[in-house]
Amino acid sequence: MSSDLFQPDHEVWRQTIRDYIVNELAPHADEWEEAGEVPREVFKQMGKLGYLGMRYPEEYGGGDDVLAEAISHEEMARCRSGGVAADIGAHIGISMPHILNYGSEEQKQKYLVPGIKGEWIGCLAITEPDAGSDVASIKTKAVRDGDEWVINGSKTFITNGARCDFMVLAAKTDPDKGYGGISMFVVDTDNPGFEVTRKLDKLGWRASSTGEMAFTDMRVPADALLGEEGRGFYQIMGMFAWERLLLSLGSVGAAQITMENTLAYAKQRQAFGQPIASFQVIAHYFADMQTKIEAGRQLTYYALKLYMEGKNPIKEVSMAKLFCGRMACEVVDTCLQIFGGYGYMEEYDIARAYRDVRLIPIGGGTDEVMKEIISKMMGIG
Ligand SMILES: Cc1cc2nc3c(=O)[nH]c(=O)nc-3n(C[C@H](O)[C@H](O)[C@H](O)COP(=O)(O)OP(=O)(O)OC[C@H]3O[C@@H](n4cnc5c(N)ncnc54)[C@H](O)[C@@H]3O)c2cc1C
Repeated sequence: MSSDLFQPDHEVWRQTIRDYIVNELAPHADEWEEAGEVPREVFKQMGKLGYLGMRYPEEYGGGDDVLAEAISHEEMARCRSGGVAADIGAHIGISMPHILNYGSEEQKQKYLVPGIKGEWIGCLAITEPDAGSDVASIKTKAVRDGDEWVINGSKTFITNGARCDFMVLAAKTDPDKGYGGISMFVVDTDNPGFEVTRKLDKLGWRASSTGEMAFTDMRVPADALLGEEGRGFYQIMGMFAWERLLLSLGSVGAAQITMENTLAYAKQRQAFGQPIASFQVIAHYFADMQTKIEAGRQLTYYALKLYMEGKNPIKEVSMAKLFCGRMACEVVDTCLQIFGGYGYMEEYDIARAYRDVRLIPIGGGTDEVMKEIISKMMGIG
């Protein structure tokens, strides 16, 4: 459905990136799910084509078009694996934006330029074994020692964490303070003291390399500080709007492609001498699903429009993330039902989609946290 958000050029771009995803990524989804990560060569190929830097300024090798990147996150669902979308999305959509917004010129040259080329892969490391939703409770510490910071602690559930080259990292620089005691750093992962302690096995997102890491007296230079000391919590909150928009777009894309594939199946699958799509109850499932998908898409595009206008639409973005994550879970569940027993078999994409979308109501801020934000912004609580 058309939207007044995008220009005609964006629709051309949508087709270009869709063709790339369908022809170059989707055929390898099974292999990468098995391998547990997207190969580095894919990042390099996407970097060469300019597909990793759409929203980034031209001076760092980017395309300077935020909406083009938004479109690619919606289209990425066509790659047949939430994990493939997650690995690429974590690098371009949640790690590098911190450097773009808060990095010094040296940090941008050092990390954004090779990141946009796909030569280096980044991650965003905030969550810890004892602190997820409650970001202010993180325990990883960074202590200043002369020209260096000494970092100790651990992180978990980090997308790309088991194989990243650089890491945007949250640590306490003043453990006595809550929100005001957190600072951000951007660090190389070949530093002594950095260790990947586990590559995590997961329900879904299996083509994504999710890591648990430890820092033991990891020394990084003073200029590894990203942004202002003590402002990390606010920097993280500032970047959540974009991450949550991307998760909303990804949910809309996943629901749409899963529904399209299910419709094709329902038109050819016969029962009682007729295609199952011709049973009224099944046809109405599709009517319900397309309605919910369109509602999610329009809510997300509305939040994206406000974001593009610089209006900091925290409430609308939280509503989009909350609605679209649950909507995608409901749509994929209905699709699996329409597939019947075949829906439960690994040989059909629907089983993977069912596992993959379940992450959305958890990652990037849970449904309960979204409801806290929305209700507070309504003046309740
Ligand atoms: C596959 C995967 C990839 C991830 N990738 C990354 C990544 O790249 N980087 C990163 O930093 N993190 C990442 N995460 C972590 C993710 O952001 C957290 O899992 C999420 O924020 C929830 O934190 P938690 O798991 O510690 O749950 P908890 O915070 O322990 O929450 C547990 C439950 O309590 C509820 N709860 C918590 N606080 C409240 C409250 N105030 N009111 C009501 N209910 C509440 C939650 O909603 C949830 O239902 C990833 C997670 C997964 C599973």
